[in-house]
Amino acid sequence: MASKVFVITGPSGVGKGTLIKELLKAVPDLELSVSATTREPREGEEDGRDYHFLTAEQFDQRKEEDDFLEFATYSGNRYGTLRSEVERRLAAGHSVVLEIEVQGAQQVRAAELDSVQIFIAPPDPAVLRERLAGRGTDSAEAIARRLEVAEQELAVQGDFDHCVVNDEVERAASELVGIVRSELGQAPAA
Ligand code: 5GP
Repeated sequence: MASKVFVITGPSGVGKGTLIKELLKAVPDLELSVSATTREPREGEEDGRDYHFLTAEQFDQRKEEDDFLEFATYSGNRYGTLRSEVERRLAAGHSVVLEIEVQGAQQVRAAELDSVQIFIAPPDPAVLRERLAGRGTDSAEAIARRLEVAEQELAVQGDFDHCVVNDEVERAASELVGIVRSELGQAPAA
């Protein structure tokens, strides 16, 4: 069966991480690509597992070497998907999940790559502020910047193949799993 690249996007605080965790548990052979970023690691984050944490110079060098499938600046930091992360998983017969923001998703769409694009939306934009504040990992200033970007992101959700509203984690995760299984030609779970 052909492997595919699933691009999962949505504003910061929408709960992408939680839904993707459920997705990876439910669909074997699906692997998450580890992105590169220049952002500082948050408490508990590990280099190589959560992100490849790079300096701005290292990021630039990888960019010059054309190592990125896509990259974007988000809220003052750079983020990018390394081609090697995606290619080695596809070569091993796995499908790949990219958890990236909207500009990166647009670049993947423009690339010669068979990708399925999924947007995760909040039931109500006000939920984002609560979730970001509740997470306790970002400063008030960082949260304000993320909410500004979120508004622009919500405006382009119509460009995506699928949109899942994260109104309730279990329901939304099951919808996401259903979309991915169907795209992979797998039968829905019993
Ligand atoms: P965070 O700092 O919260 O980990 O991530 C901030 C935003 O960057 C999130 O929307 C996340 O999905 C996005 N992001 C993470 N990795 C990548 C990447 O490799 N490329 C792009 N374009 N965005 C990414």
